[in-house]
Amino acid sequence: MIDVLPWHQGPLTGLLARREKLPHALLIHGNQGIGKVDFARAMAQSLLCEAPISGEARAGGIACGVCDACNWFRDGNHPDYRELLPEILVDDDVEAEGLSDPDVKDKKKSKEIKIDQIRAIADFMTLSTHRDGFRVLVIHPAEAMNMSAANALLKTLEEPSARTVILLVTDQMARLMATIRSRCQRVLLPAPENLEAVTWLQQHGTGLNAAQAESALAMAGGSPLDAVTFAAAEYQTARKAFVAALSDPAADYMAAAQSFEKSDLNHIVTWLQTWVSDVVLSKMSGNVRHHVDEKQSIANIARHVQLTKLFRYESALRQARRSIHHPLNVRLLLEQLLISYQRAVK
Ligand SMILES: [Zn+2]
Repeated sequence: MIDVLPWHQGPLTGLLARREKLPHALLIHGNQGIGKVDFARAMAQSLLCEAPISGEARAGGIACGVCDACNWFRDGNHPDYRELLPEILVDDDVEAEGLSDPDVKDKKKSKEIKIDQIRAIADFMTLSTHRDGFRVLVIHPAEAMNMSAANALLKTLEEPSARTVILLVTDQMARLMATIRSRCQRVLLPAPENLEAVTWLQQHGTGLNAAQAESALAMAGGSPLDAVTFAAAEYQTARKAFVAALSDPAADYMAAAQSFEKSDLNHIVTWLQTWVSDVVLSKMSGNVRHHVDEKQSIANIARHVQLTKLFRYESALRQARRSIHHPLNVRLLLEQLLISYQRAVK
């Protein structure tokens, strides 16, 4: 069975329970970053799935995740599924309907969903389906449709083919044409409760503890999906700053210890361990495994280093890992780790 965001299981199974009586067009709306597109895709896959899973807890029949239809869906080639999005959101290596211009990479990518894209799916929307089941179209963000695209879509909304479900996704309802809005049934998706979001973040974020998840969520304005990105970006910024210090063995490591005093010790020891392991690997094979963006700096250090010193330092790091949860003095521990690092690589 496929994963569905926990706060959207109820709305999803509720809609799927009436899969045979669904309106032709649903307008899925709600706050930004709560997983509306994930919801639309999960719903599409569940409608297309040829062995949906029902049961007491799963009344609606959520996609099984393993049948032929689910496999095609996951690989992006289910014949009865299409997704329309603006060019700017399409990956370069994906060929999208109506966007076959080979020079597209060199041009400024459009933020709009254009009429050509709607025209390109005309056959898809009218010919009979391949698998004799539903046909599903997801459009997101729906407000990206320009006027002519929206007008072209209206025709489809007015004369829908049988067993066709169009899922429009938006967090800017007011920017949608009123005629489009009025032809869709609205589905307001809830944002998660704070505790639910924090728990989910801890499970799906970058190894955040409760306080970090709480803070990432706050900085992302309550949006758990944005918080994941945010936490990841913040983590990368901190990692880059720390390894920049490691890449210069002549750096002032007492000052560095002071500046990283407020950082997460767990992360720091991880960065040190992965860095040292990369230096060893670089020395032996010229490759790195963890800090791939620092391959050159690591190679520079590896050139002058003695492996026996590094191995001794590695075992000191393993010992340090045991004491990082209750350090008596964070700054002192950092100083020790960094000065020992300096001795190990100089
Ligand atoms: Zn399936």
